[in-house]
Amino acid sequence: MNILSQKFILSSILFLTSDISIIKIKIMKIHEYQAREIFARYEIPVLQGEVCTTPEHAKEIAQKLKKSVVIKAQVQVGGRGKAGGIKLAKNPEEAEKLAKDILGMQIKGIPVEKIMVAEAIDIKEELYIGMVIDRARKKIVLMTSEAGGVEIEEVARETPDKIHKVEVDPLIGLKGFQIQKLIAPLFEGLANLKVCPTSKEKGQELPPDLTKTHPSLKVKAEAFTYPGSKEAFTYPGSKKLGQETGSIIRKLYQAFVENSCSLAEINPLVITNEGKLLACDTKINIDDNALFREELANLRDPNAEDPLELEARQSDLSYVGLDGNVACIVNGAGLAMTTMDLIKLEGGEPANFLDVGGSSSPTKVVNAMRIILTNKNVRSILINIFGGITRCDDIAAGIIEAMNKMEVPYPIVVRLTGTNQEKACEMLANTDLHFASSFTEGVKKAIELAKK
Ligand code: GDP
Ligand code: MN
Repeated sequence: MNILSQKFILSSILFLTSDISIIKIKIMKIHEYQAREIFARYEIPVLQGEVCTTPEHAKEIAQKLKKSVVIKAQVQVGGRGKAGGIKLAKNPEEAEKLAKDILGMQIKGIPVEKIMVAEAIDIKEELYIGMVIDRARKKIVLMTSEAGGVEIEEVARETPDKIHKVEVDPLIGLKGFQIQKLIAPLFEGLANLKVCPTSKEKGQELPPDLTKTHPSLKVKAEAFTYPGSKEAFTYPGSKKLGQETGSIIRKLYQAFVENSCSLAEINPLVITNEGKLLACDTKINIDDNALFREELANLRDPNAEDPLELEARQSDLSYVGLDGNVACIVNGAGLAMTTMDLIKLEGGEPANFLDVGGSSSPTKVVNAMRIILTNKNVRSILINIFGGITRCDDIAAGIIEAMNKMEVPYPIVVRLTGTNQEKACEMLANTDLHFASSFTEGVKKAIELAKK
């Protein structure tokens, strides 16, 4: 396996997202409210609420719920809370006003078109439950954490010991002992903790030795105090909470499998002040290969997609935008991955993944070039073609057509080899393209030119 796909898997499974761009190929994201509906069908406890597109409707929903509500922007990115896309409203009028604000917002460049109006809850603890596919190992990786509520990548970076993992073989299924392994660390600290929340002791810090002996302990000072009182008792309901969490994990796993998910996540899974569990934020990504299933394909929201990726899909190209400055146009997903690998290995940063596919047509190259040129980070372009079914002369015709149709302000490095290579080179002889006779040479040149 090549380095990048290995790192891709590692970074998406273990969240080792140091300097590696996560490449998400072949997934379809859906909205929080859609994932919430799916989870509800599996009897996972979710927030009461409804989705809407106008402030007036938001007010009506708040009136129906008869309590404080949260207004949640429905955009397919994480960290909406931090970005101001989640607001608490105490009454229907406030809900209307905040809905108006949020509907006028952009979050990470995406305009908010829908909002969810949901019951507000009193949060005592925030847990994390999630699962993803590890393609290389052919397993489903389940994860839990007592540090829910923040993005799990951040937990992985800062406190990796707070993430608990098991691998499930999909042919064997999820077993009880695995669930136990996932929930024990979330609750053991609480279960063993003797606490006595007298009014006198409220607000006091835990003695440091106790947090040392119970590293997974996450205690909020206002809710718990230190032990030693004669009335000390164990954290109420921790056993019941453990069992309920286990049941939610089992339901989530079933939802994951039956809906062809590549990711399913509850973050946070909240323990409320009354000791109830509630899925407060719900997320699902669906494997593109399952989109022949109409009920899944219908969940797609074209307005929510990255416009470049949407355009690429409509032109029959696979495009994924990245943060680097060396753009690539490659035939075949494997070669495209390897090209990004080599760019990284040689010290450069790819600006995108782009696969023009196996069969060639000049139009595809023209479309590819147009999409690439809308990425403002690009400084050089590497066209790397291994001609099998793809004919190099078709690619050359596409390059010429693209250069006639649009202004390409960046140097283009071309490495063409295989079917009709000679003809392609003749066609391109009078251009100011940079030619490379090998893959490595092409990559090095493109990186060098990007620096200028
Ligand atoms: P994200 O920022 O996109 O992950 O959106 P979330 O739905 O996970 O919300 C972010 C954070 O907002 C949660 O972790 C909670 O701490 C907080 N939050 C969301 N809903 C409520 C609520 O009803 N009550 C309270 N007190 N906090 C909430
Ligand atoms: Mn969240």
